[in-house]
Amino acid sequence: MKCVICKHGETIPGEMTTTFERNDTIVVVKGVPAEVCSSCGEGYISQETTKKLLKILSEAVKQGVQLDVRKYVAA
Ligand SMILES: [Zn+2]
Repeated sequence: MKCVICKHGETIPGEMTTTFERNDTIVVVKGVPAEVCSSCGEGYISQETTKKLLKILSEAVKQGVQLDVRKYVAA
């Protein structure tokens, strides 16, 4: 698909690192599958992947984690 940030790059399948913050919890997830812009490097995460990431974040919040770095694991 075409990148909406720079408006001329095309996205290609790749991986990125995302950071989520909720209350006092910060979770960094590495190796998240995403469409990455070949021009500006902006990453786009699918709805399905976002759902999994939010689940990881909710679990971390429940556990009272302050900062955690996790590897994305596809179910
Ligand atoms: Zn772009």
